[in-house]
Amino acid sequence: MAISVFDLFKVGIGPSSSHTVGPMRAAATFAQALFEQGLQEQVRRVEIRLYGSLSATGVGHATDRACVMGLMGEWPDSIDPRSIGPHIQQLRESGELSLGGRSNIAFDWHRDLLLLDESLPYHPNAMSLSAFGADGLLWQQTYYSVGGGFIVEEAEMAEGAPAASGVELPYDFNSAVELLALCQRHQLRVSELMMANERAWRSDAEIRSGLLHIWSVMRECVEQGMRHEGILPGGLDVPRRAAKLHRNLLEIGKPNVISSTLSAMEWVNLFALAVNEENAAGGRMVTAPTNGAAGIIPAVLHYYMKFNPEASDDDVVDFFLGAAAVGILCKKNASISGAEVGCQGEVGSACAMAAAGLAEVLGATPEQLENAAEIGLEHNLGLTCDPVGGLVQVPCIERNAIAAVKAINATQMALRGDGKHFISLDRVIRTMRDTGADMHDKYKETSRGGLAVSWVEC
Ligand code: SF4
Repeated sequence: MAISVFDLFKVGIGPSSSHTVGPMRAAATFAQALFEQGLQEQVRRVEIRLYGSLSATGVGHATDRACVMGLMGEWPDSIDPRSIGPHIQQLRESGELSLGGRSNIAFDWHRDLLLLDESLPYHPNAMSLSAFGADGLLWQQTYYSVGGGFIVEEAEMAEGAPAASGVELPYDFNSAVELLALCQRHQLRVSELMMANERAWRSDAEIRSGLLHIWSVMRECVEQGMRHEGILPGGLDVPRRAAKLHRNLLEIGKPNVISSTLSAMEWVNLFALAVNEENAAGGRMVTAPTNGAAGIIPAVLHYYMKFNPEASDDDVVDFFLGAAAVGILCKKNASISGAEVGCQGEVGSACAMAAAGLAEVLGATPEQLENAAEIGLEHNLGLTCDPVGGLVQVPCIERNAIAAVKAINATQMALRGDGKHFISLDRVIRTMRDTGADMHDKYKETSRGGLAVSWVEC
């Protein structure tokens, strides 16, 4: 399947791409299909069944609310996150849901939204939606939320691979080896090759304006995160730190090692904390490539733009294209879903992508870019997904800051070399896939292992 840079970087809402963005898209798609089939007049009620990880951590990840909003015709890229609370409250009080935002049906939260302690065969993130009329079932569909906001219908999963998109790319690649060979044969940088591929979907102007829009949403997310203070929602009483850290860094002034050890690094921490706190609070986000790991790429790009006086919009475009090349490899050959391969798939993939993006704008050869991504991913291998309380807060928020710094270091190390190195990116991605397959389910976004159970609620 051809994957675009805009499949990896999508505007959505927090706190999770697989558990919030994907389920909302699935429910909105289901509601839309009811209208397209002319069934909406006959629908009396809709039942939502959540399975596997969507059930285990669904409430903490706001999956239940996302599904309901999707049925009401809302989409993750256009919904106003602030409208969700009032809509949900109104629904609970009235017992009515506005299907597709157009026709009211009865909705009983306990009867119609079921969190099931069972899994469906193809992926841990599964959900079924059933529409009932006066005489019984009208239509049913099962969706899998496979990470990064991607959804796949059951029939496609059963066939073993997502349906081909029908798009033919001039430089299609399925491995880093193929990517490097194409770059060498056609004398292209990674971002140039990716740009040529993107033209299969959009014009140059659309690609550029689309990526700059993604960057503007990331910047606004950081701004919001640096503005908001208080306690994050969900009951863990996790305090927001970005606003205070921002004030402290402004007091310190220009980064230097006397007033603060490695204060440039602290700015990187700040950018990541700001994004991930906004994510935890359900704010406007860009999946990069997921929500749980959404702070890493913006933090590294902010770092580059802030500390390089010559940085330009062209760099932003190249950064995203370089990062996306690596995201495509992770998605095609392993997974970007914490429920499938643990946090290595989310934070590890984002770290590798950020390292690649930074390498690209710092003038790396394709081989050095591949090396930067390899270092970024290699040192996240084995990372489990164990969010405390099923919330995308502990360890997720700090983990993004750590991985962002790691990505910058990975790029610096790669740029000191000539691109030759011991283990290839392809092998590291394969190792991530195999390690994820061996990982016990309790470490894959179920909150049944690791830090999620080490933490004891008093
Ligand atoms: S631990 Fe990692 S994979 Fe799991 S929810 Fe947090 S960021 Fe996502």
